[in-house]
Amino acid sequence: MNNDTTKVMRYRGRFAPSPTGPLHFGSLVAAVGSYLDAKHHHGQWLVRIEDVDTPRTIPGSADTILRTLEALGMEWDETVVYQSQRTHFYQAALHELQRQGLLYPCTCSRKEIADSSIVGISGPIYPGTCRNRPMIQQKAHALRTRTNNEIIQFQDRASGLYRQQLACDIGDFVLRRADGVYAYQLAVAVDDAAQGITHVVRGADLLDSTPRQIYLQRLLNYPTLRYLHLPVATNTAGEKLSKQTNAAPIDTNHALAHLIEALRFLRQNPPPMLEYGNIDDLWLWAQQNWHVDRLRVAH
Ligand code: GLU
Ligand code: ZN
Repeated sequence: MNNDTTKVMRYRGRFAPSPTGPLHFGSLVAAVGSYLDAKHHHGQWLVRIEDVDTPRTIPGSADTILRTLEALGMEWDETVVYQSQRTHFYQAALHELQRQGLLYPCTCSRKEIADSSIVGISGPIYPGTCRNRPMIQQKAHALRTRTNNEIIQFQDRASGLYRQQLACDIGDFVLRRADGVYAYQLAVAVDDAAQGITHVVRGADLLDSTPRQIYLQRLLNYPTLRYLHLPVATNTAGEKLSKQTNAAPIDTNHALAHLIEALRFLRQNPPPMLEYGNIDDLWLWAQQNWHVDRLRVAH
């Protein structure tokens, strides 16, 4: 299935950084990839700050990220959305899943789960200990959603067919943690739908999250999206660039050099002369010459 239906659709894409530190090369790649794919298709590009996990949020870093995007010449359409201000939407989605009988409280500790489960694609597969528990009010508890063994598959625009059976690959997963924080999977599914997103372009570290998000989209009656998972930037030790691995912040004094490096990383072959031009020239070239097929992973 090589025909890319992207061109005929109304396109709304997004960049959804977590404000846990400044923009680094890894997040720059996701920003540039999502921006170019949207602009190449004459679409809109939105920015959503994923600060739902308030304990991990670093004050000021959302602003730092936005200022960096501006300095790099990346303009977003529409007002920036902050997940921390949208918890009532996540709560409403949970109510709906509860109404469908798909939600249950879980009081298992990390250790209890680790001791009694096998490890799946993205960590321990929850063994279902609390599956038949009725709802409780008292005592801190997480909320999990029931999964099943239906095959969930999608055609990634870079890596092709990807499939999971949630019950055996992932297990029943948490939608609200015991500390009250709504899970990334839930917030993303709700917000992508609420913002009318049609195309998701992000790092391949989230490939294995996508079936969980598709599952929630189906349960909540949201439209299906198109996905493009970009190669993940790593350091010399092979670790994903992140705040945890001390990735260096993007220095906007060297905007052109960083953007060219990101384009190279995305296999877009930027011509050397771009280094001597200005940012507008670079974006013009990059939008016109965006080739997703260069990201395609051979099987
Ligand atoms: N907030 C996530 C991150 O920074 C990205 C979420 C997404 O693009 O779906 O890793
Ligand atoms: Zn449990």
